[in-house]
Amino acid sequence: MMIESIANGMGVDAHCHIDLFPEPVAIATEIQRNKIHTIAVTNAPSVFHFTANLAKEHSFVHPAAGLHPELVKTHCGELPLLIELIENTRFVGEVGLDFVTTNPDDRKLQEHVFGKMLEKCASVGGRILTIHSRRSSGRVIEMLENTPPGKAILHWFSGPKKDLLKAIHLGCWFSINPAMVRSQTGRALIARMPKDKTLLESDGPFVNDGGMPSTPSSIQSITKEISEIWDCTEDDVRKSVNDNFYKLMM
Ligand code: MN
Repeated sequence: MMIESIANGMGVDAHCHIDLFPEPVAIATEIQRNKIHTIAVTNAPSVFHFTANLAKEHSFVHPAAGLHPELVKTHCGELPLLIELIENTRFVGEVGLDFVTTNPDDRKLQEHVFGKMLEKCASVGGRILTIHSRRSSGRVIEMLENTPPGKAILHWFSGPKKDLLKAIHLGCWFSINPAMVRSQTGRALIARMPKDKTLLESDGPFVNDGGMPSTPSSIQSITKEISEIWDCTEDDVRKSVNDNFYKLMM
């Protein structure tokens, strides 16, 4: 990746499922035109090649190899492929834990997969990860502390305040989406997120933004809501988000 293209970014989307939009090429073209650095997460290692190919023609698309915690039960056989992909990719995601399931065996399997993946990231000198932590933030943070995998972005963080403070202490990064700025609890968490560690995310096509699936381009306007929460100018937010992506890549 050329340094110039990092510096020239006009926006950031740290978590987008480009491959799950009906027209991924159109999304990638728009990303390229608007110069939005986008971490293109994938949910299973077996589909990574599609997004990796898309990224070859679109320098603002940064493909991430992942295994979504909600797919671990059916796709855990792909763990060796994920481990192999991590060898040659800079970004990893979507990975993490989802404790909406209360089944202890399912949770244990998710922890096994997440743990092995963290070990691999650590052993190759660190990666940039975008991490899911629904109802599991305490355990995710504990595992990150035990096996530091590089730069960990907590995507759509929705845990208790005490876990947020632990994550900040551990040096985690955060990405904010439109659903978070609209919710009362989301806003309270954003208020405490460090400005120098915070990014934007669409989590498209799963998050709604004005009745449409949010896209890397559409979410850039949430800098307005974030500026109100942080009590600064919208330009400040935009500048720090772009600077933060640059730091993330260093
Ligand atoms: Mn996601």
